[in-house]
Amino acid sequence: MAKKLIFATNNQGKVNEIRQILGDGYDVYSLKDLDIHTDIVEDGTSFEENAVIKAKAICEETGEMVLADDSGFEVDYLNGEPGIYSARYLGEETSYDIKNADLLRRCEAAKEGERTARFVCVIACAYPDGRVETTRGVIEGVLAYEPKGTNGFGYDPIFYLPERGCTTGELEPEEKNRISHRGIALRKMVEKLK
Ligand code: IMP
Repeated sequence: MAKKLIFATNNQGKVNEIRQILGDGYDVYSLKDLDIHTDIVEDGTSFEENAVIKAKAICEETGEMVLADDSGFEVDYLNGEPGIYSARYLGEETSYDIKNADLLRRCEAAKEGERTARFVCVIACAYPDGRVETTRGVIEGVLAYEPKGTNGFGYDPIFYLPERGCTTGELEPEEKNRISHRGIALRKMVEKLK
């Protein structure tokens, strides 16, 4: 019988990705599927802390094992900004055209070797007995000089992968899932769940 697994997100894209990676062995439910509307305050100071806050809150509410993730974009020239504030950078409602243009402007003076950046994703799993586990996935690249590509979302158009010669915004979705920070963290968590 398939194992029931709750993923503490309302983002349907994430849920689809997780279903794809976990395969038939798991029945994955989102917060929407379970009609859970808990307002979770993400006041952690790291991706790990925020992922754990989300997983634990829903685990306590449902009494079941719960997974949650927290992810973001780190630009070394900006000392790791926007980092855990990636979704909130310049305001939650601000378009990514504006957010991306702003990051590029702030890094105008950054030279070739100073433009390193990465996407980070941490997945947390909270168990009803109080145990918590986390896994981390990272994809390294550089800040592009201009936005390119219409695939993906968020900061994808300005995250350039030198070895592929394109941004993650130019990758096909399947290809991005295969190499992405979220895919890496999730596959690591699947190994732990086994
Ligand atoms: P959260 O994990 O849903 O809180 O989202 C974190 C934020 O990080 C997103 O809203 C995006 O701004 C950014 N981010 C995380 N993963 C990606 C990605 O794969 N591509 C582009 N932006 C991302």
